[in-house]
Amino acid sequence: MPATRLVIKFGGTSVGTPAAIAQAAEIAAALHRSGHPLVVVTSAMGGVTDALLGAARAAVDGERLPLRERADTLRARHRAAAEALLPSADERQLVLDAIDQRIDELLLLCDAFAVLGEASPRALDAVSSLGERMSVHLLAGALRSTGTPAVPIDAAEIVRTDDAFQSAAPDLIETRRLARELLGALVDDAIVPVVTGFIGSTADGIVTTLGRGGSDYSAAILGAALDADEIWIYTDVDGVMTADPRVVGDVRTLDTLSFREMSELAYFGAKVLHPKTVLPALERGIPIRIRNTFRPEHAGTLVLGRSEESSGVLKGVTAVRHQSLVTIEGRGMLGVPGIAARAFGAVARTGASVSMISQASSEQSICFLVPQDSSAVAVEALRHDFEHELARRDIESIWTLDEAVIVTVVGAAIKQTPGIAGRIFGALGDAGINVIAIAMGSSECSISLVVEARDAEHAVRCLHQLI
Ligand code: ADP
Ligand code: ASP
Ligand code: MG
Repeated sequence: MPATRLVIKFGGTSVGTPAAIAQAAEIAAALHRSGHPLVVVTSAMGGVTDALLGAARAAVDGERLPLRERADTLRARHRAAAEALLPSADERQLVLDAIDQRIDELLLLCDAFAVLGEASPRALDAVSSLGERMSVHLLAGALRSTGTPAVPIDAAEIVRTDDAFQSAAPDLIETRRLARELLGALVDDAIVPVVTGFIGSTADGIVTTLGRGGSDYSAAILGAALDADEIWIYTDVDGVMTADPRVVGDVRTLDTLSFREMSELAYFGAKVLHPKTVLPALERGIPIRIRNTFRPEHAGTLVLGRSEESSGVLKGVTAVRHQSLVTIEGRGMLGVPGIAARAFGAVARTGASVSMISQASSEQSICFLVPQDSSAVAVEALRHDFEHELARRDIESIWTLDEAVIVTVVGAAIKQTPGIAGRIFGALGDAGINVIAIAMGSSECSISLVVEARDAEHAVRCLHQLI
């Protein structure tokens, strides 16, 4: 039987220090030695994307001096990793030159921001892409140091996207063509391409990014493009857990999850996987496995392929913070057709994405959640579009509640087991937690409820006891 074709991705912590990079390289080298056709995707070193965007903000605010210091810190961190990882002097020099070039680009871009006093989304993508465009050289170099043939590849040459900077959408057809053309031959020759996660480019060659945490998505896009047998996401925990381990103490690592369950968990806040990751994999039925770089012997969590269903129990509880609950209410809305359509149309035009819609029992109010930083523009658009209804008092008020948190319980059990909703609300009621709004996913594998920020952790812990 031919060996499994793998796309494996290493996250920020997994390439965060020279020791971690060496460990990641060892994992990739061992898979290559066992004969797996292999593509590696890498994140920036942990914290680097934040530091790059921090430098851009500082430049916009006119802080020139700290900017040099920030650039020097980033340069020193990457240079030190190159010195530690690459024994060959020639190899090391090439990587050091690549790092210097990127840091010089950072300084040029930031100087422009300082002069202009602003940074466009396109320019911010140019800045935030620099982290992966440095780490890729370190990981490819470390892999070569193990004796594995490897080449660094800039995903700007492969992942074709639209021009929605900072959250670009891939053109899967063109990306498939490019990936097969540029990566296929390398893989066939048993050379490991090490590809930058997170980034892509428009048809005009302008660098874009897929959104924060998007390297997972890159791995799935490439896995789908290359018809990989499995996509492995290496991170700093054993797999997908029943809750965020930073919030709940007694979490368990899940052995398996269905695509649908994974998708709900990720969408509703489980940071372990970028929410869009499941889509390209699902389309081609490619299983995803989440594994721990620092405990490679652990099997991790398997997200099952298309047709497989996982067992019907509750799988996890998540939270999405910093949301605003927007409510439109008024007795004159009763039975008037089209109000909901107009409301969501108005919000959509502002570019705000609605995270959750809650049905009220009467038709006298509509409420939904948007990320807090987009609520002011959303409300302004609603007040504008419903100007007449507000004047006539058919709509009495449009108001928001800030710092709302969406807490979600996920599991196929919700569909299969009667009385789960009752247990969820009973548990919250017993704990004295006030539920502001409720929604049940149409897939019936999640129930979301909205609570105030001060109740959120308590609600998550309390619901975790049901799992
Ligand atoms: P990477 O840099 O490898 O992409 P991330 O920090 O993006 O890693 O995601 C992994 C982190 O996600 C874990 O360290 C953990 O703290 C957090 N996390 C939140 N919810 C969950 C969950 N349900 N299961 C596992 N990890 C979770
Ligand atoms: N480096 C990017 C970020 O920090 C992408 C990623 O790590 O997935 O958002
Ligand atoms: Mg991540």
